[in-house]
Amino acid sequence: MTRLPIPEGGTHPDPGPEPLNIEDPVGRLPAEWQAALTALGERPFRAKQLFRWLHQRAEFDPEKMSDLSVPFRARLQEAGVGAPFRVETVHESKDGTRKLVLVAKDGARVESVIIPMTDLSDADAGASDDEDDEPLAAKSRVTLCISTQFGCAMGCVFCASGQAGLVRGLRASEIVSQVYLAKRYLRPDEQLSNLVYMGMGEPLHHYEQTARSVRLLTHPEGLGMSPRRITISTVGLIPGIERLGRDFAGKLGLAVSVHAPNDETRDKIIPMNKRYPIAELMRALRAYPLPKRRRITIEYTLIDGVNDAPSHARELSTILRGIPSKINLIPMNPITASELRAPKSEAVRQFQDILANAGYSCFVRTRRGDEVSAACGQLAMADDLVRKKREREELRAIAKKS
Ligand code: SAH
Repeated sequence: MTRLPIPEGGTHPDPGPEPLNIEDPVGRLPAEWQAALTALGERPFRAKQLFRWLHQRAEFDPEKMSDLSVPFRARLQEAGVGAPFRVETVHESKDGTRKLVLVAKDGARVESVIIPMTDLSDADAGASDDEDDEPLAAKSRVTLCISTQFGCAMGCVFCASGQAGLVRGLRASEIVSQVYLAKRYLRPDEQLSNLVYMGMGEPLHHYEQTARSVRLLTHPEGLGMSPRRITISTVGLIPGIERLGRDFAGKLGLAVSVHAPNDETRDKIIPMNKRYPIAELMRALRAYPLPKRRRITIEYTLIDGVNDAPSHARELSTILRGIPSKINLIPMNPITASELRAPKSEAVRQFQDILANAGYSCFVRTRRGDEVSAACGQLAMADDLVRKKREREELRAIAKKS
């Protein structure tokens, strides 16, 4: 054993335990905890214990982690281990949809929506269309819709988040804790069945934290969710779709916001289409390593006079040919930032009939959680952000004039 030379000048005061310097601690995977804890001289199994407290029992308060030593708990507290969000309000609508408004430490507000699955079309909205997944108990199934960003940079004209612009991406800890917090608001007879990344933000524009959140949620020492019960919804960022397919071997459900069958129409409502046009997007969907019997969800928000003609439906059936898919038609939910609106129900039915007759499974997504502003693209916070953005722009205009 080599001995370190004893420094001259007498004894030094004990510096105390080294601080645990770890970024976004609730967003760390067990292997990362192990590396960080070993460096501090903690025993490796502590990593597993800690991960279980956070991700299996959803306990964020180190004080309550009773099998950890008191000094270790103090270190965790210093390192910022704690709940990423405070639940501000829970709005419940008549159809049982619950919207949670969560506030982050910096004041960012995020919304997650608990959606009871009541009919076929809802069941189809989730990740898993095959009933041969691991069996769930005879409880009512709920889908949870979570957000990945505060605001969104994609700028889709019919979407409140898109009109708001991006404030910031959420950390992995903030993405996963939406699931843990929402579970506290399930009724005893309910079970979380599917998870959809369809709240505020574009998950593939925030790839690292999104992928990390999936790894956390599916980790066997944590919640251990099946990746097949998780669906990532994207506006169609092709490099992200490719990466997702590679990183998760096609196991994650994929939903794509197509919303128009040709570039001329799609360019008008989805700015990103100019970068990733339809033909290339369809090529990327064909290349997605989809397991057998799984399908890609095609989302199509129907907007009156924009993308709702019978010719659009026929064109859509042509471009989707050969892609294992199921189509969700969503009559546009009104948003304050836009005059655009849903077509009349007759046009919706006609659109659906054309696709169904062409052999597609095609559902009209019923509006859920309408009176609590929890429907797609309607998240109230987004409206709030749009207002703030307008105010900022007005102030800028006034400043310019003076
Ligand atoms: N950025 C991702 C996920 C978030 S939005 C994406 O684009 O897929 C989830 C779905 O709601 C998307 O299909 C989106 O286009 C749709 N949506 C947005 N605003 C809407 C509105 N006002 N009415 C109906 N659907 C809307």
